[in-house]
Amino acid sequence: MLCKWNEKLVCDVCGKQANNKDVKRKCTPGLGDRVAAGLKAVGITEERVAKVFRKPCKCAKRRKALNKLGERLTRIKRGIDE
Ligand SMILES: [Zn+2]
Repeated sequence: MLCKWNEKLVCDVCGKQANNKDVKRKCTPGLGDRVAAGLKAVGITEERVAKVFRKPCKCAKRRKALNKLGERLTRIKRGIDE
């Protein structure tokens, strides 16, 4: 799967940035990125969450933490599989 750049040249899936829309980059979203993309798909964005709770949400922080967790899970899984 390749990154899908939006109008801001940010990948909707993994959150990576490109300098032009013709960049072909293998999309490797982390666990948190996948959760964020999934939430976005059902209309839950960080902006909306911030509006509802009247304070900035900690999505970005959570997303990073989830990515770390995902990496760790992947490593553990690999360790078992190999
Ligand atoms: Zn991507």
